[in-house]
Amino acid sequence: MINTLNTTLYRFLLMAILLCLRAEIVFAEENSAEVLIVGAGLSGLSSAYYLKKAGKSAVILEMSPHVGGRIRTATYADNAHAEVGLEEFWESNPALQIMRDLKVPMETSYTSFSSFYYQGKLYLFHHKSNLDFLKSVITVDEFKAYKTWDETMVALYKQLEVRPLTASLLALKEISFADWIHEKSGLSAKTQEFVRIETEPEYGVAWQKISALDGIAEWHFFSGEGQSPNHVVGGNQRAAQTIADFIGADNIRLNQLVTHIKSTDAGVEVTTNDTGNFQQHVYRANYVITTIPLFKLDDIQFTPPLSPDRREAIKTQAGGSYFTAHVLVDVKASHFWKHNNESILPVLTDGPLGVIYEGQSEPNKDVLLNLLITGTYADRFNSRVNGLDDDQKTIIEAFDKQWPGFGRSVKQMTFYRYHPRAIASWPVGRSRFDILSDSLRVPQGRIYFAGDFTEDTHSNGAATSALRAVKDILLRK
Ligand SMILES: Cc1cc2nc3c(=O)[nH]c(=O)nc-3n(C[C@H](O)[C@H](O)[C@H](O)COP(=O)(O)OP(=O)(O)OC[C@H]3O[C@@H](n4cnc5c(N)ncnc54)[C@H](O)[C@@H]3O)c2cc1C
Repeated sequence: MINTLNTTLYRFLLMAILLCLRAEIVFAEENSAEVLIVGAGLSGLSSAYYLKKAGKSAVILEMSPHVGGRIRTATYADNAHAEVGLEEFWESNPALQIMRDLKVPMETSYTSFSSFYYQGKLYLFHHKSNLDFLKSVITVDEFKAYKTWDETMVALYKQLEVRPLTASLLALKEISFADWIHEKSGLSAKTQEFVRIETEPEYGVAWQKISALDGIAEWHFFSGEGQSPNHVVGGNQRAAQTIADFIGADNIRLNQLVTHIKSTDAGVEVTTNDTGNFQQHVYRANYVITTIPLFKLDDIQFTPPLSPDRREAIKTQAGGSYFTAHVLVDVKASHFWKHNNESILPVLTDGPLGVIYEGQSEPNKDVLLNLLITGTYADRFNSRVNGLDDDQKTIIEAFDKQWPGFGRSVKQMTFYRYHPRAIASWPVGRSRFDILSDSLRVPQGRIYFAGDFTEDTHSNGAATSALRAVKDILLRK
């Protein structure tokens, strides 16, 4: 009798617990799809785009209240706007084909080389081509040596497409890009400085901190006449929004912080926490593609846990630093960045001002300048170690040194910080081409890893990784 009572009580309690749990965790049919995608940055949006084109259902789970991730455009009074994140889509970026398909208006007004300041002198790009510009910077003999070196770089870059890499090529991950150029390039000291100044803003760290192997990959944006950088008319955020519109709002769940990804033989289960009301949700699918940045992967619990090689790949990857400052300036100050009435922007300053871009402003209204600050200055500004006032002072002083009297025209500064590992990069000894990086490009069970850092330093990697993951899923039985 007591035993029967206990069993009945036990069953009752179990039912009650299950009912309570069910009340807290929302299971619903609309929470399932063929593929779940974590993150609505370029990689997540591109993945959903390719899947929709292939006729597969996909749902994106995004922790923030907006799409785009590191693609963001800030708008100010009088319709002024400037990029907070991604500035330009390089010509080789597969995302450009999506833009063309969706008729996103693009513009390209400059080339891969930019005007730059070196030791206080301005080297002005007002030429028809990259190589004509370079000829104005260095001597005829230096230029000849540069051409020979650049041809070697092109040949080495081609070899990167053949896998597995040769041992001699792979060995280039053990030497820094800087040391390798110093020792092996045959370039003059001035040409070496030119290469450093033009490329460092791309990977966001000093060239001593990346390997020669990754340097070869980065250089291909600049080789020959270089690739053209593309920008969305009206701001890059329009690109993210247009892809999101194509995917459909019903397929993008905002404010869903993914906390747990479980992969079994039967499928995947992804748990989210609604950042608005802390309600937990569970989503189910055949596969999941995570596109969240490297530094956020540790916030997610994986079942089964990530394999040791993937863990090691994440732990030992480094990061380039970016910091953005939008500077609102009196229109009367425009002469500082104009030569013969033509803008010299973007200009590389090789200092605390980073790359100075011109945002969009209405005629005769205050002008918005966009500073894309990288490397040690970005680290310092991101850390706020000296406080905001000090950061502003450093920037104004740098402006006044470069353009005496300019500081008086500055009306407002707005700062945007990024995580210290915001940009993918690999320290000397690691590379995007090594075995550890390969481990992130293969699925673990039903979990696919995408996002810029799985392929590349930039948004090229975001789109390429989406293509890779979707292609693999479509081929899988
Ligand atoms: C200042 C700056 C300038 C740049 N300039 C250029 C440039 O000129 N050219 C270029 O090619 N690249 C540039 N980049 C790099 C480019 O922005 C990125 O490579 C690209 O946008 C990355 O896309 P992604 O989808 O891989 O990652 P992200 O854009 O970071 O998207 C990841 C998404 O995942 C979401 N997320 C994270 N964790 C979770 C979670 N637990 N649950 C749910 N969602 C989550 C995030 O909120 C985010 O929306 C720049 C970057 C910065 C910061």
